[in-house]
Amino acid sequence: MPIYTYECQSCKHVFEVEQSMSDAPIKKCIKCGKAVKKIIPQDSSVGIIFKGSGFYSTDNPKK
Ligand SMILES: [Zn+2]
Repeated sequence: MPIYTYECQSCKHVFEVEQSMSDAPIKKCIKCGKAVKKIIPQDSSVGIIFKGSGFYSTDNPKK
C-alpha cells in the first residue's frame, strides 16, 4: 500500500500513514488533533498529472 505523508498545520508534526487509495484521507494530527495537510511528493514517479481544464486527482476524491 502507498504511504502518505501529512504535516500538521498547527504543531508541524510530520507523520506517515500507510493506506490504500480508497481510504479516506487523514484529517487530524495524530499528536494534537488539529488539521493536517497531505504532502504530495515532488517526484516524477507519482502518476498524478495536472492538465489545464481537465483537473483530475485520484487522491482527492470528492464526496
Ligand atoms: Zn499537530
